[in-house]
Amino acid sequence: MPRPIEALIHTDALAHNLVRARRMAPDAKVWAVVKADAYGHRIAHAFEGLRGADGFALLDIAEAEQLRRLGWRGPILLLEGCFDARDLEACSRLNLWHVVHHEAQIDWLALHKTTWPHHVFLKMNTGLNRLGFTPAAFRSAWLRLSGLTQVDEISLMTHFAEADGPRGVDHQVAAFEAATHDLPGERSLCNSAATLRESPARPNVRGDWVRPGIMLYGASPDHPEHGIAHWDLQPTMTLRTRLIATQDLKPGDAVGYGGAFVADTPMRIGVAACGYADGYPRSAPAGTPVLVDGRRTRLAGRVSMDMVTVDLTGLPDVGPGSEVTLWGRGPGGVVLPIDEVAHPAGTVGYELMCAVAPRVPVSAVP
Ligand SMILES: *Cc1c(COP(=O)(O)O)cnc(C)c1O
Repeated sequence: MPRPIEALIHTDALAHNLVRARRMAPDAKVWAVVKADAYGHRIAHAFEGLRGADGFALLDIAEAEQLRRLGWRGPILLLEGCFDARDLEACSRLNLWHVVHHEAQIDWLALHKTTWPHHVFLKMNTGLNRLGFTPAAFRSAWLRLSGLTQVDEISLMTHFAEADGPRGVDHQVAAFEAATHDLPGERSLCNSAATLRESPARPNVRGDWVRPGIMLYGASPDHPEHGIAHWDLQPTMTLRTRLIATQDLKPGDAVGYGGAFVADTPMRIGVAACGYADGYPRSAPAGTPVLVDGRRTRLAGRVSMDMVTVDLTGLPDVGPGSEVTLWGRGPGGVVLPIDEVAHPAGTVGYELMCAVAPRVPVSAVP
């Protein structure tokens, strides 16, 4: 028998979360962001749940090619655009829309031979300071692009730095609007946090296309301020395994490497077949929540390469073979949001779902 660990992708939950994005952005089109192999869910599984999107946004041409092979004929957007001139051939062949965020990408386009003019998304840097033309340089980039026969449509986009935090998006929206108010073209500004927090009440922020990622995968962009229950999102990935051993401890007995966890009363510990080599974060401290047979308990002791140890106090009827849910949906419909594991581990749901290791089999369930 293989090690009992596996990841399940809930395609019904992906579809539900997509509907939530649509509700929050009425009249806008939705780019389902599926970069990083759909945030670790695998493009093919994500496509099953997200095929109702208006388009798919990602980074890798290989992933775009996979979507085309799966039968997707609608829009695909390369969020970082082309990495060299040859990528434009793939854009022409696969009919990919692409972001233009620096001058060299315009140079490549100007030399590109294509019978199909391209749809590009011209990106403005409004304060995140990663990709994009400054507001001052934006207009001349737009004018250059609009003079190219290789380009037939220019949409305008920017990306928020703190849509989930106290500073919000207003300063970035103001910079974007000041530099684009007299330019034609569709607009796209919102990631998940802005789709949930800004788009419902502010049509100018909502624009023509929203670009949700993390919310589609059932994690909250502004945890711990709001959890997935607040936003009515459902977990789309379950990481689960089984108990493979138990240990009875006396007061003073220590658990795991470094003996960091010491029993202060007699207690029973369960050993689950999941460790940091499976992608479970080693930084998750004792106390991090976990489900055993659908009941909530906690880690006890350090995460090791292939195992975690869990507190079985109050769970007398569980033992080797019992199901352990590291995050996602447990037996009986009990939910353990990935955010509640990421937060004590000092990280975010994004990182955990992307980090599930290749040795963990991933399968889709309807
Ligand atoms: C990743 C990404 C998104 C999605 O962000 P979430 O926080 O996951 O919703 C949107 N736009 C761009 C440009 C991105 O790179």
